[in-house]
Amino acid sequence: MSVRRSSVEALLASQELDREVLVKGWVRTRRGNKYVQFIAVNDGSTINNLQVVADAEKFPEETLKDVATGACVAVRGTLVASQGKGQSVEIQATEIEVLGKADPETYPLQKKGHSLEFLREIAHLRPRTNTFGAVLRLRHALAFAVHQYFNDRGFFYVHTPIITGSDAEGAGQMFRVTTLPEQNPPLNEQGQVDYKEDFFGKATNLTVSGQLEGEVTAMALGKVYTFGPTFRAENSNTARHLAEFWMIEPEMAFFDLHDNMDLAEDFLKYLVRYALEKCPADLQFLNDQYDKELLGRLQFVIDNDFQRLTYTEAVEILKSAKQKFEFPVDWGTDLQSEHERYLVEKHFKKPVILTNYPKDIKAFYMKLDEDGRTVRAMDVLFPGIGEIIGGSQREEDLGKLQQRMQEMHVPEEDLWWYLDLRRFGSAPHSGFGLGFERLVLFVTGMTNIRDVIPFPRFPKNAEF
Ligand code: ATP
Ligand code: MN
Repeated sequence: MSVRRSSVEALLASQELDREVLVKGWVRTRRGNKYVQFIAVNDGSTINNLQVVADAEKFPEETLKDVATGACVAVRGTLVASQGKGQSVEIQATEIEVLGKADPETYPLQKKGHSLEFLREIAHLRPRTNTFGAVLRLRHALAFAVHQYFNDRGFFYVHTPIITGSDAEGAGQMFRVTTLPEQNPPLNEQGQVDYKEDFFGKATNLTVSGQLEGEVTAMALGKVYTFGPTFRAENSNTARHLAEFWMIEPEMAFFDLHDNMDLAEDFLKYLVRYALEKCPADLQFLNDQYDKELLGRLQFVIDNDFQRLTYTEAVEILKSAKQKFEFPVDWGTDLQSEHERYLVEKHFKKPVILTNYPKDIKAFYMKLDEDGRTVRAMDVLFPGIGEIIGGSQREEDLGKLQQRMQEMHVPEEDLWWYLDLRRFGSAPHSGFGLGFERLVLFVTGMTNIRDVIPFPRFPKNAEF
């Protein structure tokens, strides 16, 4: 009779003992003595390993020699109550088949405690470590929760383009997309590359944001969100920036700035709560291994209201702060991450939503305040992260929007369709962008954004 394969997770949770089972996975360790060998098998379904017990009578050393760390095995046996500590059940093996050997001389993940820097260089194998297994399962849970949250609340998921013809959004430096030949590309009369000859008949780039197209669909479907890859050729070699990252961008008709803040806060709390509920073992591991305050910090975010204040109020607080900053603070300058983190970690000791920034340091599409100096922007700042969300109420008035575009040298002809939204049935609306990896960074307690995406893209790195 053939048994069906069970996941390690299902077997560890099983109450049905003394039955024949089959499990397949990768060997984490093998240890023991001349009477009995213990093989820890992990199949990725959970951070916990299943202990396989192999008696020497049935499995002499020669037959186990390939059952080494990193090898892939299929194990048949009886699921029994465990004799040892640390697990409730184990498999008493009757048959062990090595599906794929791993040479112990060359397998890179031999010992525990490899540095995260080293693991980045073997991004093709690091998913097999406890740490990256936990991060990837959490990443999945959070992505799933994003869709769950919006679906339950009547938002529609829209797919905005990845290749874009407008570089007007100004969120960051863009990557060019072209099929023109590298050698001797066609030139125009001015001697510049002639993009009229290019694939799309114009210069195109990878998108830095799906917002403008999000607004298009919000002006028809009411509440929408995008969740897709975003590209920024920024040469900022920081632990918070990637050249390719994923962004979640809800956009809602009839939402003002306050509705927008309420949504952002509720959304973030939902995501953190979801991770705590669905991934307790992974979070416990990360808490114990990397950051003893992780679980406490996550619970704190759920339990407390975010502090809301204006940029102007924040500047006052920063000016009277005892702390010396590297960059001076003055009304009108953009806040640096040291300022954001002072507000969150030292002053308020909780997440902060800053609003009503000076218009000159924010994008052209943000709605102008009555005073004509500030705009209805909102940034959500998180402990250890800094900015996790950037958003705003959008300018819905055609004339005011055109004026802002002129002041900020955004060419109208590129965005005629965006202006049409204000010409035909304009409506107050708002939205924001949540950097998915910054969320995963916060929830996992990891400290470098390169460690929360399977294959990070950053300056001088596109291996794998
Ligand atoms: P920052 O000032 O931190 O560079 P930003 O002002 O450029 O952020 P937005 O353009 O408002 O950010 O983008 C919305 C969100 O996307 C940010 O709040 C952040 O969570 C995320 N984000 C922005 N740039 C990056 C990046 N290079 N890598 C990862 N996430 C990013
Ligand atoms: Mn940026």
